Amino acid sequence: MKLILLGPPGAGKGTQAEILTKKLGVPAISTGNILRAAVKNGTPTGLKAKEYMDAGKLVPDEVIIGVISERMAEADCQEGFILDGVPRTIPQAEALEKAGVTFDAVLSIEIEDEVIVDRMDGRRVCTTCGAPFHVRNMPPKVEGVCDSCGGELKERADDKPEVVRDRLAVYHKETAPLKDFYAERNLLKSVDNQPTVAETTTAILHVLGL
Ligand code: AMP
Repeated sequence: MKLILLGPPGAGKGTQAEILTKKLGVPAISTGNILRAAVKNGTPTGLKAKEYMDAGKLVPDEVIIGVISERMAEADCQEGFILDGVPRTIPQAEALEKAGVTFDAVLSIEIEDEVIVDRMDGRRVCTTCGAPFHVRNMPPKVEGVCDSCGGELKERADDKPEVVRDRLAVYHKETAPLKDFYAERNLLKSVDNQPTVAETTTAILHVLGL
């Protein structure tokens, strides 16, 4: 299965990617997680990406295309993958197409901006493995500790309300046009955000015919 998860920041792409990766047996690739690790480790990519990420702007396409090409060339991606947060611009989608990458489906999670702004203040991520949590909707078993790897959970600097609003504006301008791009290729499927994580997963599996 080769799948793209589309949707605004905070739509639950990372959460659904983690669930789907276990169900489908293919890796989830999150450029956000890869970039956060690069920033943490002070790599050249991290140094290039940090200022854009802190400001809620998109990292330049050429940096992202480099990151994703490198990751998709790894052995575990040969049977399929779930892309979370990439492509995020038409040039990124075109670069994947030009590289000969094909997809079975592009799934858009539809959710209103106001729901996202409300939700973001409770989001926490693992500083070691990137796993997502939420203090109300998806709390870890032990407060502040990642269920998967025991790493420390923290708020993301770019989840502050003023940065979230900028990120939503970027989503509508740069990323939402990908829905038409993939609809033209008959790949687009949509689900509405549901009251719970499990119900959203059920809706996704249904629309994918799984
Ligand atoms: P995310 O974890 O997907 O919300 O990504 C966090 C931040 O990383 C974004 O606000 C961007 O600054 C950067 N980023 C992640 N993926 C991409 C991408 N495909 N294109 C450009 N910037 C990205």
